[in-house]
Amino acid sequence: MDGFVRFDMEDHTQTDATLAIWQAAHEAYQRTGVVIQAALRRSSADVERILAAGGRVRLCKGAYDEPRSVAYVNKATVDANYAKLMERLLLSGSYHALATHDPRLIARAIAIAERQGIGRDRFEFQMLYGVRRDLQRMLVARGYAVRVYVPYGHEWYPYFMRRLAERPANVGFMLRAIVKEEGRRIRGR
Ligand SMILES: Cc1cc2nc3c(=O)[nH]c(=O)nc-3n(C[C@H](O)[C@H](O)[C@H](O)COP(=O)(O)OP(=O)(O)OC[C@H]3O[C@@H](n4cnc5c(N)ncnc54)[C@H](O)[C@@H]3O)c2cc1C
Repeated sequence: MDGFVRFDMEDHTQTDATLAIWQAAHEAYQRTGVVIQAALRRSSADVERILAAGGRVRLCKGAYDEPRSVAYVNKATVDANYAKLMERLLLSGSYHALATHDPRLIARAIAIAERQGIGRDRFEFQMLYGVRRDLQRMLVARGYAVRVYVPYGHEWYPYFMRRLAERPANVGFMLRAIVKEEGRRIRGR
C-alpha cells in the first residue's frame, strides 16, 4: 500500500484524541500526517512532539472559534504563530504541507525556502478547492506543488455544510473569493 493518510483536526476538545490516533497509525503505517492549527497555544509543543516522532504536519490557521484560554483570538497573533511554526517546519528537513490562502504567508514561505536553499520538492502548499485559483496557478507556474482539498464521496454535502456552520465567516469568505476572482478574470480578459 502506498497511499498517504492525513488526519484532519477538529476543535481543541479533540486535539489529544486525534494526535493519539495519528500516533498509533503512524507507528503501524509510516505514510501518515496530521494537522496542526496555528491558532492553538499548544501547537508549538505539538509540532516538536510530531517532529521527534518523524511525523509530517499540515499547518493551517485553524477553522474553529476557540476560547481565549486555549487559543490566540487575535488574527495578527495567529498569523505570527503560523509564520513561526512554518519556519520551524521548513527548516526541519522533512516534508510538510502549508495549508493557507494567505499571500503574505505564502510569500514568506517562498522567501525562507529560497534563502535556506530548501528545494521546491521539499514541501507543498495546500488550498481549498475553488479558493484563490489564481494563486494556485501562479504557484504551480513557479514550480511549487499545490494540493487542492476537495470534499467528496456520499457525505460531501453534509460535511461541507457542517464546515460552513462551524464558522459562519466562511460563507462571507467564499462569496468574497468568488467575486474577487471573477473581478480578476474579467479585468484579465
Ligand atoms: C487544505 C486545507 C486543509 C485544512 N484542514 C483543516 C483542518 O484539518 N482543521 C482546521 O481547523 N482547519 C483546516 N483548514 C482551514 C484553515 O484552518 C483555515 O480556516 C482556512 O484555510 C483559512 O485560513 P487561511 O490560512 O487561508 O487565512 P485567512 O487569513 O483566513 O484567509 C486568507 C484569505 O484567503 C481567502 N479564504 C480563506 N478561506 C476561505 C474560504 N473558506 N473560502 C473563500 N476564501 C477563503 C480569503 O480571501 C482570505 O482573505 C484547512 C485548510 C486547507 C486549505
